[in-house]
Amino acid sequence: MGRETISEIEYFARALKAPRIRDAAARLAEQAREAGWTHEEYLAAVLSREVSARESSGAELRIRAAGFPGRKSLEEFNFDHQPSLKRDTIAHLGTGSFLTEAKNVVLLGPPGTGKTHLAIGLGIKAAHAGHRVLFATATDWVTRLQSAHQLGRLPQELVKLRRYGLIIVDEVGYIPFEQDAANLFFQLVSSRYEHASLILTSNLPFSRWGDVFGDHVVAAAMIDRIVHHADVITLKGSSYRLKNSGIDTLPSARPENTAE
Ligand code: ADP
Ligand code: MG
Repeated sequence: MGRETISEIEYFARALKAPRIRDAAARLAEQAREAGWTHEEYLAAVLSREVSARESSGAELRIRAAGFPGRKSLEEFNFDHQPSLKRDTIAHLGTGSFLTEAKNVVLLGPPGTGKTHLAIGLGIKAAHAGHRVLFATATDWVTRLQSAHQLGRLPQELVKLRRYGLIIVDEVGYIPFEQDAANLFFQLVSSRYEHASLILTSNLPFSRWGDVFGDHVVAAAMIDRIVHHADVITLKGSSYRLKNSGIDTLPSARPENTAE
């Protein structure tokens, strides 16, 4: 490429705030000449470098903003440990179509069966697909809603949260809520109903959520909205954490206590 053209490209790339165009233009020009690309093919290759770099840095920002407790991917999930769970089910959820349809995912099962792992893995996929994601435990969500409520800003908070395509509520059921918490939680679920997705995880079957929320009527109304458009996935078996420890089951994993 001529010197003048190169400096023109540098100028345009700077004006567009697209630094990879400058780098890719020179690098790919040689490749294009050798391989005999058309002008259109060359232009597409250069632009694609900028676009994919932008997309992945956007996804990375969304992943960091989501507040995941760690990074877990669907690819790392060992389906041999969950024989009743179909790979296809998770792969389909991984495409993110549930998000565009504002559907929910509920992951039920005893401790250590991979509920949080799958929730994070789906959250990371969602971030890559361009959705904003927020992850917190049920207890943290209630604290957040309570403080908004005390400031008289609950409606604004719920509107703000609706801009997130995915909200993950981890560990429903580990700690019982007070009654006002049940109402706040119900409002979160209602405000997202048919607008934006939720992923919830719980070690308890729905039949025991009434005890957790301290209000069977509110819990039933909430479950009704959650499951109306939802994939409910029940994980089974012993804890993956105890896989090689020689311990078979935790006391809380006895069938009468869990979502199994
Ligand atoms: P839960 O939320 O159901 O209590 P986690 O998702 O926190 O369980 O899983 C506990 C640990 O075991 C995590 O480190 C997780 O990555 C791992 N784990 C659980 N199930 C699997 C699995 N099927 N394949 C790979 N890792 C798993
Ligand atoms: Mg968990």
